[in-house]
Amino acid sequence: MILPKYSFGVGDRFCHQGKAQLSAVMKANERGFDITPVWNKSNREHTIIGTIPADTRKEADDAVAAFRYGGPYFVDADHIGLDTVDPFIEPSDFFTLDVADFITKPADRADTDSFVKKYDKYIGSLAIDGIDENFNVTDDQIRAIANKFLLAIRQAGRIYRHIAEARGEGNFITEVSMDETDEPQTPVEMFFILAAIADEGIPAQTIAPKFTGRFNKGVDYVGDIAGFSKEFEQDVAVVAFAVREFGLPENLKLSIHSGSDKFSIYGPMAKAIKKFDAGLHIKTAGTTWLEELIGLALAGGEGLALAKDVYARALPRFGELCGPYATVIDINTVELPTIEEVNAWDGQHFASALRHDPSCEQYNPSFRQLLHVGYKVAAEMGSRFLNALDTYEDVIARNVSENILERHLQPVFMAHPQARDRRKSQGL
Ligand SMILES: [Zn+2]
Repeated sequence: MILPKYSFGVGDRFCHQGKAQLSAVMKANERGFDITPVWNKSNREHTIIGTIPADTRKEADDAVAAFRYGGPYFVDADHIGLDTVDPFIEPSDFFTLDVADFITKPADRADTDSFVKKYDKYIGSLAIDGIDENFNVTDDQIRAIANKFLLAIRQAGRIYRHIAEARGEGNFITEVSMDETDEPQTPVEMFFILAAIADEGIPAQTIAPKFTGRFNKGVDYVGDIAGFSKEFEQDVAVVAFAVREFGLPENLKLSIHSGSDKFSIYGPMAKAIKKFDAGLHIKTAGTTWLEELIGLALAGGEGLALAKDVYARALPRFGELCGPYATVIDINTVELPTIEEVNAWDGQHFASALRHDPSCEQYNPSFRQLLHVGYKVAAEMGSRFLNALDTYEDVIARNVSENILERHLQPVFMAHPQARDRRKSQGL
């Protein structure tokens, strides 16, 4: 099973927008851009919402059948570990092995020693194609990297083999993720992490590093954009170099766990993948759920009442809802409107405050972030919320689909004609 060059992870909290998400990808495909949809959902999301991994598979299969979509697509067991993977094995064909918890736990001494010895040929000045500066690699540095990451990669190997035993090798896509950790990985760390992944026999097709800057949920990137661009380009170059050096899968590429809506770095990412002719996978978080709320608000009537009710229930539970996301949200509580204020809004006002359009005067990032983590409130509403999704399906689907196509796929994958040209050259 091969993940094509450009792929996009659509997260969907309530497993209701598969068709709307697929239609966005199909519109890009119709315009000649070869992008593969992946439905990603983590164990954490399933647990909070009360869905099971098979629901995501059904959502994807139903959408594909409804539109007679003939291209490849995948269902990603996002951020799984050895203790959570089992329910995902049958319905998923893409597995994101999350080993962040094992980073900085040292491997045993002999293992570390043999790793350092094996890779001592890289000690000295390391030149990587596409990176102007050479890196200075020392024995101590390789040892420090091994101490920090080797145990985590060994754990990834354990999870990989567990899945391979059940599904058979080659019957699924493997990603290794280390984005949910404290410190970003440097390009040199990435290089030796990939060496360890190759040693472990993990045929990784995507790798998710942590980058500098803040990747807050559902809002734009916060950080030094020039610094990010450099780091991103270097990681792209390291991946290409490591593929050749260590014999990793040819299509290995970066996976960006974006937390959605990182508009200001989409340009630099598009530029880098064009420059290196590299592939890219972008995962989005569940901002589709916010498009559902926008659709409900715009529908008016009971839809708008329900959207307002979600806010009215979320605001008093600020601490509880935001707690688990403390490191990935930045809410300015002074900016949060009162329940009375929101209740006085019409649907257009609610939608404009929520929609991520920085040029719009009514856009309120604090309001947006609170509702983003407030999906638990909607989950608790049960059939009232789910029935409303069905009742107002048309207006919701339009918002979900436009959001993915225009705010995500276009700036990342469709800004440069490389994807289209490649399709043409293959006679597709
Ligand atoms: Zn992630």
